[in-house]
Amino acid sequence: MDGPLLIIVAVVAVALIVGLLLWRRGSTRQVEDTRPMATPVRSALGATIRRALGSGLDEATWDDIESALLAADVGIESTTSVMTTVRRSHPDTTERARVAIRNALRDELVDADRALDLEGSPASIVVVGVNGTGKTTTIAKLAKRFMDSGTTVTLGAADTFRAAAGEQLGSWGDRIGAQVVRGQEGGDPASVAYDTLESARAKGIDVVIIDTAGRLHAKKNLMAELQKIYRVAGGDEVSEVLLVLDATAGQNGLAQVREFAKAVPISGIVLTKLDGTAKGGIVIAIERALGVPVKFVGVGEGPDDLVVFDPDTFVDSLVE
Ligand code: GDP
Repeated sequence: MDGPLLIIVAVVAVALIVGLLLWRRGSTRQVEDTRPMATPVRSALGATIRRALGSGLDEATWDDIESALLAADVGIESTTSVMTTVRRSHPDTTERARVAIRNALRDELVDADRALDLEGSPASIVVVGVNGTGKTTTIAKLAKRFMDSGTTVTLGAADTFRAAAGEQLGSWGDRIGAQVVRGQEGGDPASVAYDTLESARAKGIDVVIIDTAGRLHAKKNLMAELQKIYRVAGGDEVSEVLLVLDATAGQNGLAQVREFAKAVPISGIVLTKLDGTAKGGIVIAIERALGVPVKFVGVGEGPDDLVVFDPDTFVDSLVE
């Protein structure tokens, strides 16, 4: 075979393989998330660590790094644990010290399965969190993610307390092409959850995502309401209860997770607005304090700005 013919054959073969892969992707209904994981964080921590290590490896260096970890929202318990491990390892080069810090931070993150559990027909995801954290936007992003991989989704607007919440979810539904079940303003949120599941079952939909209210000032009522939604959505059968948390809320976010965790069994955290903070250490503080894995992070306001949380990429970008 001569040169030009060989090139043509190679191009055709590559086109066939790419076409086959694209066809397989479109024709398989995948509930699992298969996109590559990435969790970039523009942290100021790495630069501070580099600066501190640049001045030597003495007690003053460790003190500076300790302060930097605290300033990055890593939290007092994890900071103490990381610094104890690093000091004990007696690193003799700055690179070894950096690796020791990186590995100690990685060890603070829980060893949990971060993939969404999507058992159930339909699978049900209840999303909780304080108003303003980015709950509605996150639901839209998640729904888009599912729909992009051929998984059908119905959204339930069970925050009947705020008319605007239902409208907002409705307009996201229109934008991304997902059906939204809404209730009467001031109506029973649990009955919206029920209707959403019924509608999804009748239509053979794969996944239901239920939005809930987040008016933390009416804490007692809110928690009772969430418990009822959880029961109606299937109780133990609920596939995921995701708590949406604003990364810029820092240590306040920890108190929020604790409140919600008392009412419903949180199976994962979605940390929003990670693009809006140079800290990011809050991931470590949350996982250490509550043992609940961060499953996704929000990195912008658009429907595609949601990435799967990957612990290794995360700690690398934290200390780089
Ligand atoms: P909800 O009250 O919890 O439902 O919050 P919304 O979904 O209405 O979001 C509140 C604000 O946060 C909106 O302006 C969103 O565009 C914004 N937002 C949500 N997620 C992110 C994110 O990951 N990054 C940034 N920068 N903004 C976000």
